Amino acid sequence: MKEEIKKFFKGDVHYDLETLTKYSRDASVFTVRPQLVLFPKDSEDVQKLVRWVNYTKNINPSLSITARAAGTCMSGGALSESIILDFTKYMNHLVKFIDHIPQKNRKNPEGDSFSITVQPGMFYRDFEKITLEKGLILPCYTASKSLNAVGGMYGNNSAGERTLKYGKTEEYVMSAKVVFSDGFEYEVKPLNQKELAKKIAQNDFEGEVYRKLSKLIEDNKEELDQAKPKVHKNSAGYYLWNVFQNEGVFDLNRLLVGSQGTLGIVTEITFKVIPNNKYSKLVAIFLKDLNPLGRLVDEVLTLNPETLETYDDKTMRLAVRFFPDFLKNKGIIGILRLMWSFIPEFWMMVTGGFPKMIILAEFAGNSEEEVHKKCLALVEKIKHFNLQTHITKSEAEANKYWDIRRESFALLRKHVRGLKTAPFIDDIVVKPEFLPKFLPELNSILGKYDIVYTIAGHAGDGNFHIIPLMDFRKPETVRIIVELSDQVYDLVERFKGSTTAEHNDGIVRTPYLGKIYNPHILSLFKQTKHIFDPKNILNPGKKVPIPGGGGTKEYLKEHIEIDEES
Ligand SMILES: Cc1cc2nc3c(=O)[nH]c(=O)nc-3n(C[C@H](O)[C@H](O)[C@H](O)COP(=O)(O)OP(=O)(O)OC[C@H]3O[C@@H](n4cnc5c(N)ncnc54)[C@H](O)[C@@H]3O)c2cc1C
Repeated sequence: MKEEIKKFFKGDVHYDLETLTKYSRDASVFTVRPQLVLFPKDSEDVQKLVRWVNYTKNINPSLSITARAAGTCMSGGALSESIILDFTKYMNHLVKFIDHIPQKNRKNPEGDSFSITVQPGMFYRDFEKITLEKGLILPCYTASKSLNAVGGMYGNNSAGERTLKYGKTEEYVMSAKVVFSDGFEYEVKPLNQKELAKKIAQNDFEGEVYRKLSKLIEDNKEELDQAKPKVHKNSAGYYLWNVFQNEGVFDLNRLLVGSQGTLGIVTEITFKVIPNNKYSKLVAIFLKDLNPLGRLVDEVLTLNPETLETYDDKTMRLAVRFFPDFLKNKGIIGILRLMWSFIPEFWMMVTGGFPKMIILAEFAGNSEEEVHKKCLALVEKIKHFNLQTHITKSEAEANKYWDIRRESFALLRKHVRGLKTAPFIDDIVVKPEFLPKFLPELNSILGKYDIVYTIAGHAGDGNFHIIPLMDFRKPETVRIIVELSDQVYDLVERFKGSTTAEHNDGIVRTPYLGKIYNPHILSLFKQTKHIFDPKNILNPGKKVPIPGGGGTKEYLKEHIEIDEES
């Protein structure tokens, strides 16, 4: 196989044990060993590879391609038993930057809008350097923004702290170049009715995709509208209900973003970026118990905060314990400032007075005074809850809270001996108004097990990241993971939530898609996959299960990494 690929592939072809072991993992609980890891030089490499796999699949049915960016996926979406295509080595460049999109070409005519075109292997941290230099930002950035790449944001429909106000990645993809399963690259962008009709009339694979997909959506419009999860954000399933936008505009990216590379492989993405806030400020709210959380969230949301984030006492304890980790790259003045700002937390640790949960509400505006006024208004509004609140005084102090929120998972992964982070109920979302009932029920499920876990997340969206620490030397860990997943996802189903708001389905949640969608909708997902990828060569077993293979509970159990060496 590798010799044949080397004949046409300009990039690197790796199959040494070290590389295959490295690529057997992402940030999920799974291990899946690929046969080959390829680093494409350009789109031509990707196209030729897809054509070769398409052709060779008849002789070798186990062949498939899984696109990979930085491999930080928590759902196992970037794992494969066949070929991994890593974009971060070569296809990581800026293509072009457009300073200003003329008003008439904008989807949303309000406010300023700018675009940037990049290759999928560009790390978000490099991307942000370019945009921030111009005072611009892609506001769907993730808590993993120092680790992940933009191809993975496209693949997972990623989101983050500012999604509450600005939406997910799907809102920021203006156009993309995508290699379909026929091995040719197509430009994917919003089409008006006339343009769609032209596409549908084409007598080729692209035309067939548009023809069959638009018919499938139109034939099932009512059922699809009903099936759309009624939550602030969702990464589960194929978002067929989103493809037809206002005024009949047909935007295939609304489906491809978040499809985990199962429908096409993106080779270039044009993002809309927006002006970054000039001034912002944080209010920290300390909760001694979770009872007021739901009502509190509702009230804070009426003031339209930029972000409404949260983390629990265990996360905070962890941050204080591994405080030196936060000092890295801060410089001497930064270190002193940070040490000073951590004094209240050290004190709480010593006196045992950690609050049960901390809520961070951020406000933004055009002047310091405006932002401070908004913070004061919040403190006034929630006075009747009788909670301790604190308006941050400096950027360094605000950054302390952000660092704790963003770095908690990384800290857990790095430091806790013998136990490992186990993201499997890591991304549940319900309507915020259900939180007062949902959270106690969730706690009582978790309380039945002798496990340590942290909770952090996006309270404003009703989206919580629960990360248990588990002993992967014990075989019963697999049983607990499945038992807990069953119970937590049953609960999510009862509250009409979604199993994943951001982190997507992958290996870990594809078996649970039936908790959110009925059999008819699942059959539409299957048909969608078949329209785009009739031979099942693109990241199989994610989003649509393969009987006896990927996407089933059996596959999930078989591929949880049991740690023999530690
Ligand atoms: C500490 C930590 C914090 C996190 N916080 C967040 C968070 O706040 N919000 C959030 O949404 N996620 C979060 N995640 C999950 C993850 O970081 C994001 O989903 C991220 O955007 C994935 O990017 P990546 O470059 O690592 O992609 P990968 O893991 O490489 O891939 C992700 C998916 O995208 C697909 N893909 C990759 N490249 C392409 C391509 N060229 N074409 C088509 N499909 C492609 C892959 O097949 C895979 O299914 C977190 C993860 C960690 C470890």
